[in-house]
Amino acid sequence: MKISHSIILTSLFFFISCKQNIDVQSRYLESRTPIILISIDGFRWDYFEKTDTPNFDRIIENGVRAEGLIPSYLSKTFPNHLSIVTGSHPNNHGIISNRMYDPIFKERYYIGQGSTAAQDGKWLNREPIWVTVEKQDLRAMTMFWPTSDAEIMGIRPSEWYVYDESITNPQRMEKILSWLDLQGSSRPTFLSTYMNIVDNAGHRYGPDSPEVIDSIIEADENIGILLDGLKARGILEETNIIIVSDHGMASTSSDSVIFLSDYVDLTKLNIVETGPFAQLDVVNDNEIESIYQSLFQVHPELEVYKRYGFPSEYYLTDNPRIQDLTLIASNHWTIIKDRSQFKGNLRGGDHGYSPTATDMHGIFIGTGPDFKKGFFGPRIKNIHLYEMMCSMMNIQPSVNDGNLEESLIFLQ
Ligand code: AMP
Ligand code: ZN
Ligand code: ZN
Repeated sequence: MKISHSIILTSLFFFISCKQNIDVQSRYLESRTPIILISIDGFRWDYFEKTDTPNFDRIIENGVRAEGLIPSYLSKTFPNHLSIVTGSHPNNHGIISNRMYDPIFKERYYIGQGSTAAQDGKWLNREPIWVTVEKQDLRAMTMFWPTSDAEIMGIRPSEWYVYDESITNPQRMEKILSWLDLQGSSRPTFLSTYMNIVDNAGHRYGPDSPEVIDSIIEADENIGILLDGLKARGILEETNIIIVSDHGMASTSSDSVIFLSDYVDLTKLNIVETGPFAQLDVVNDNEIESIYQSLFQVHPELEVYKRYGFPSEYYLTDNPRIQDLTLIASNHWTIIKDRSQFKGNLRGGDHGYSPTATDMHGIFIGTGPDFKKGFFGPRIKNIHLYEMMCSMMNIQPSVNDGNLEESLIFLQ
């Protein structure tokens, strides 16, 4: 049988166009709508008002903004990043602070570039969202997020990086974009990244400094790189983008300092951490009560709690990493070990204060097919975002303390 040239060409053309259609479908439709979760460390809830932020505005105008994101206590970086991705109180996910002592491991936890403890999944008791995603046969890829470089419950993200501050923020954005170029089942459904420029500026120069404004502008430019890259690929409208921060920032000053040594004999303590709060291990357990009494109501800007004696709103109920005594300073105040340590040059910022101080509140903004458009909503606790993200990806959440109902107001 003789087949004419034109029939062959027509069939070939038909075959090629079908294949292209399938490629486009498998790239953008077969996998679920991806979520890009971005943390801008220390971005206080009201920082959008400090300067022009054209790229954050693109998200807010086409999406949602909560008045603020309420941190879990203790209001530090690791506890809150883990609360966001596990939907759990620090008491339950296990990372109650950036610095901890575990009485069972007999080991200290610490964070920062090069921390081996931060890369050890044994410290976590709840499942981060990238583990939930991978367990349900979808891909998670993390260009940084606290503990995303650890193996947790035997699972790692499909792609991840050891925390390394020499990888620039634009490089982090480009990496996210390149992962979204992957096709079919290799394409990630969950992606995360992280920037610490705003937190750094807040600590060094204080939340009201021009340096913080510069860092907000730099963060906004990086978000612009991401949005432009998504737009150039034609996938901006098909991606859910969530930007959060872990906590806010309060100004500190040399006039607002509490010296521990004014009230206790420091040789009786192992001091795990000082700053906006202090965690104290009393060397001799028999002296816990007397040291508690010597700190109780001695300073109007200082609260003291015995292990497991916290007010219920802190949700610090029974974790063994909570020390014998925890001191919490009022917003703006700093607890320092002793006077000899103090150079009198405190004029930056810090966090770690009670979440009842709105200075500690962070941000939650989002855009994409699952979010309402142009919606300004109320403050929300960060433990509720895990269930929200699971529902957006249509996956089953693991055990957590959040409630999906709380976030539905932001969703279509
Ligand atoms: P904070 O002291 O609570 O303000 O913590 C902020 C610091 O956390 C950053 O400046 C980093 O040094 C550190 N950090 C952030 N992400 C990671 C990570 N994935 N691994 C280790 N350290 C980190
Ligand atoms: Zn932080
Ligand atoms: Zn910080």
